[in-house]
Amino acid sequence: MSTAIDAFDSLLAGRQRILLLSHVNPDGDAIGSQLGLKWLLEAQGRQVIAANQDGVPVLLRADQVAPGWQEMVHNPMKPKRRGNGYDLVIALDCSDLPRLGKAYSPALAATPLVNIDHHITNLHFGAVNIVDPAASSTAELVWRLADALGWPIGPQAAQCLLTGIVTDTRSFRVGHVTPGLLGVAQQLMEAGASLAAVNELVLERRDVDTICLWGHALAELRLEERIIWTAIPQTMRARCNSVEQSDSGLANFMVGAVEADVALILTERADGLVDVGMRAAPGFNVAQVALALGGGGHPRAAGCTLALPLEAASQQVLAALKAALAQQRHAEQRP
Ligand code: 5GP
Ligand code: MN
Repeated sequence: MSTAIDAFDSLLAGRQRILLLSHVNPDGDAIGSQLGLKWLLEAQGRQVIAANQDGVPVLLRADQVAPGWQEMVHNPMKPKRRGNGYDLVIALDCSDLPRLGKAYSPALAATPLVNIDHHITNLHFGAVNIVDPAASSTAELVWRLADALGWPIGPQAAQCLLTGIVTDTRSFRVGHVTPGLLGVAQQLMEAGASLAAVNELVLERRDVDTICLWGHALAELRLEERIIWTAIPQTMRARCNSVEQSDSGLANFMVGAVEADVALILTERADGLVDVGMRAAPGFNVAQVALALGGGGHPRAAGCTLALPLEAASQQVLAALKAALAQQRHAEQRP
């Protein structure tokens, strides 16, 4: 880790124009780590563009939780920006390069890339890889970077980083919450960040259309071999006027079922692809199933995207999960 940070420090020296990217359908950690690092690098005198193919999710479009969100661009290669060129690309919260979606242009292939991430399935695709699956969030890794390099953390950077940490740990309830992480959160709050803002404006909020969709999806709930699952076809989304956006709340809710070891949601997208979201109860692991299906994630929260009709995708993922769970239960029983 410290070697990777030293390598990052050397790579950064003399590089002025920096592009920060995060994963498609971004969450609070993607946006928080990206904007947090933007503030930090700007304070170090760099010119920084932050881009995401899908922009900033509605709940994060608030200065109280993601200051600087208005500056996020969709396409970093628009002519006027391409004119500036980039000396360095940094990918945040992405376990593989395709996760960056269209924000990563092939024209960037010759530009050095730094990979900052905490997914256990990370493919180490950067020239420098600051990757630690034990970290709570990518935002925590950005904090470690700033701390190691002695960069001051202003109130805006502090807020963005706290937003990343709080959203990825669901307010210190899951994930790698250590005494050290609580110390980091304390420092960020002392630097001016608000914990209440993230809880109140992001974590526990969703629009009525999403709640409507939860209702329909929950009405179709099935339980098979301790897998609680549901599928969301386009027709269901249309009934609720629900727009496509990230909502991991339903999967988190479902995995709380005492009868289940894993929760699974399959969502049919407008382009016909199927997004797969999985959650595991304590003691179970869905990361390897996601990786085997071309996706990735964490032991207890992972996903992938499949180019199959909804029904076929459901059957494929269920079969893979059943096999993995049988193996995990068997391994647990061995002395
Ligand atoms: P969610 O269910 O909230 O969309 O995703 C849960 C976790 O799985 C997140 O850490 C997310 O980054 C990861 N994940 C979801 N879909 C994909 C995917 O298609 N590819 C990869 N590499 N990771 C994914
Ligand atoms: Mn994350």
